Amino acid sequence: MKIVAATNNKHKVKELTALFQGSDTELVTLREIGFTDEIIEDGATFLENARIKAMAVHKATGLASIADDSGLCVDALGGEPGIYSARYASEDGENSDDKRNNEKLLKNLDPVPENERTARFVSALCFIDADGTEVSAVGKCEGIITREERGEGGFGYDPLFFFPSFGKTFGELTDEEKNSVSHRANAVKILKEKLTEYFASK
Ligand code: IMP
Repeated sequence: MKIVAATNNKHKVKELTALFQGSDTELVTLREIGFTDEIIEDGATFLENARIKAMAVHKATGLASIADDSGLCVDALGGEPGIYSARYASEDGENSDDKRNNEKLLKNLDPVPENERTARFVSALCFIDADGTEVSAVGKCEGIITREERGEGGFGYDPLFFFPSFGKTFGELTDEEKNSVSHRANAVKILKEKLTEYFASK
C-alpha cells in the first residue's frame, strides 16, 4: 500500500522508510508527489500536530498519509522544548537549526546537575487512510542530556541524548542501533500493530 510521508525532514523520511521496510507499506515523499503547500502546525500536543500534517496531505491529495510530530521533553525545563523542539532557538517562530537549538539547550541546562538531566524523546505518528479514518500511536524513549555534543550520526538533539543501556548518545549510534530503540521506532511498532488490526477489520 502506498502512503505519503507528510514531512520534508529527510532524516524522518529515512528513518520511517527503514522502519516500514519489510511490511507491505511503501512510503512516498511529498517531493515525489509534488506537494509544496505550507502546513501550519498550531496544535497543542505532538499528536495534534501529527494529525494536522497527515490530514492536510490527505485532504490535498486524497491519498493515505502518515505524519510524525516529535521532539525532546526535558524534565528540568518543565517538558521544554517539547512541541517547539524544531524552533527552540528561533527568534521569529520559524524552524531553527540544530546547532543553535543544541547550544540553547546546553545553556539552559548548565546549572542542572547530572542526576536531574533526565529527558525523553517523543514521537506521535498519525496515519490517515484514503477514506479519512485515523489510526495513531505515540512512542517514547528515555535518556539523559549530556554536557557536550557527542557523535556525528542522527540529527537534531541526537548528539546530546545519552541512552544509558547503550552507554552512548544517539549521535554515536549506527542507524540500525537508533532504529532498534528510538521513540520513532517504538511509535512505528505500536502503529503497525494497530494498522494490522485496522486493515483486518476493514
Ligand atoms: P517536527 O518536525 O515539528 O516534528 O520537529 C521535530 C524536531 O524534534 C526536530 O527538528 C528535532 O529537533 C527534534 N527531534 C525529533 N526527533 C528527533 C530524533 O530522532 N533525534 C533528534 N532530534 C529529534
